[in-house]
Amino acid sequence: MPLPTVAIIGRPNVGKSTLFNRLVGKRLALVDDQPGVTRDRREGEANLLGLEFRVMDTAGYEDEDAATLPGRMRAQTEAAVREADVSLFLIDSRAGVTPLDEEIARWLRSTNRPVVLMANKAEGKAGEAGILEAMALGLGDPIPFSAEHGEGVVDLFEALLPHVERDEEDEAEDEDEDAPDAPLKLAIVGRPNAGKSTLVNRLLGEDRMITGPEAGITRDSISVDWEWEDFEGVSRKVRLIDTAGLRKKARVEEKLEKLSVMDTLRAIDFAEVVVLLLDATRGLEVQDLKIADRSLQEGRALIIVMNKWDVAEDASSLFNGVKKALDEGLAQVKGVPLLTVSAVTGKGLDTMMKVAFETREAWSRRVSTGQLNRWFERAIEANPPPAPGGKRIKPRYITQNKSRPPSFVLFGTRVDLLPMSYQRYLINGLRKEFDFGAVPVRLSLRAPK
Ligand code: GDP
Ligand code: GDP
Repeated sequence: MPLPTVAIIGRPNVGKSTLFNRLVGKRLALVDDQPGVTRDRREGEANLLGLEFRVMDTAGYEDEDAATLPGRMRAQTEAAVREADVSLFLIDSRAGVTPLDEEIARWLRSTNRPVVLMANKAEGKAGEAGILEAMALGLGDPIPFSAEHGEGVVDLFEALLPHVERDEEDEAEDEDEDAPDAPLKLAIVGRPNAGKSTLVNRLLGEDRMITGPEAGITRDSISVDWEWEDFEGVSRKVRLIDTAGLRKKARVEEKLEKLSVMDTLRAIDFAEVVVLLLDATRGLEVQDLKIADRSLQEGRALIIVMNKWDVAEDASSLFNGVKKALDEGLAQVKGVPLLTVSAVTGKGLDTMMKVAFETREAWSRRVSTGQLNRWFERAIEANPPPAPGGKRIKPRYITQNKSRPPSFVLFGTRVDLLPMSYQRYLINGLRKEFDFGAVPVRLSLRAPK
């Protein structure tokens, strides 16, 4: 297999060749020093703390007009970026962000190719302002770096790792979480007697649960792998963490109430999707809201399931009452899925699992920067941000920096002053436009000074 490739790009004089030499060492510099060798770019094999990859340096057009991206340099940069698995985009943090840097950044964002932004020449204090400015390029947080002094190597290593890692085991692990066939990590939580163990039993089939985990029970985690057959007949993997249910049977002597709080927190921590089980004969109680709130705060996808529906009285007004109480009680997210099941008869369980998988899909979704900003421009135009104290807030663009849960960063002048109501407007807009449903969506604001 060929080595992964990394391109070094940036306007003239930001330190590309210096970085190249640092990554590749002497071997290559020699080749390059031969007079009369005209190459469009230098390439060499790099070893960064054990990471091996091929580097391409696009330097060499210093004498061209630096005010715009000159044709040859542009073609060069574009070809390198397209070819590379990841590009290192350097800016000079002493000089600050220039219009040419912005132009390159704009183009890079439009390609959707993986980019690591590096604020070079960041040794000492002289680069601090430049590092902040670089945040506004919409390419994530820059890595403060000094090609000359070798500072920032570990951060660079970490940033490159996901793109150039060769170790297959690690690769599998990395992709594991995002892969659609990765096991759904599901937690079923709720107050004592909501019916958690009955539900788990029902999902797993009675015998399996009781015999399975008992032997391997540990203090920290009790999870069970199983498969759910979806409505198309496809088997889908589920990793279920059980809370009080399993433990109750295993350690009868433990103090259950106390245990269950710890268990609940641990289960939320573990899960992608949290099913909060309510007892339909008791409705929604304060403690339920606390668990729900906690799950959302932790960024988990949440589903609320009313159990014992087989014995629910006045079902429709009960349902509507709980729905209303949820929307009022959960300030962060409206419209969390509310389902009804019976753990005893099994009714509603397939729908619950289907919703759990769908919710995870939304929770893991990534939106391209291009798509995001097309929506963003419309959203800003339809409802321009306020001008607190007469000072205009100018949002520039938005990018998704993480999924699971979906997290976005908004850049622009004074965006840190955006009122909560406006942030909610944007978050709700994101939800609608990109079908995030009721999974938690995070927005952070960056206003470079
Ligand atoms: P290129 O045109 O992007 O390839 O830039 P060079 O690698 O030729 O570097 C341009 C200038 O910046 C040279 O004088 C380097 O010595 C200097 N330089 C490169 N990296 C650093 C750094 O980390 N800190 C400082 N202070 N100067 C640097
Ligand atoms: P846990 O403490 O949350 O694990 O709750 P359990 O699973 O031990 O259930 C508590 C009680 O509720 C038991 O008596 C169950 O038989 C009963 N129960 C659980 N699910 C249902 C259901 O769907 N319908 C009815 N009618 N009873 C249920």
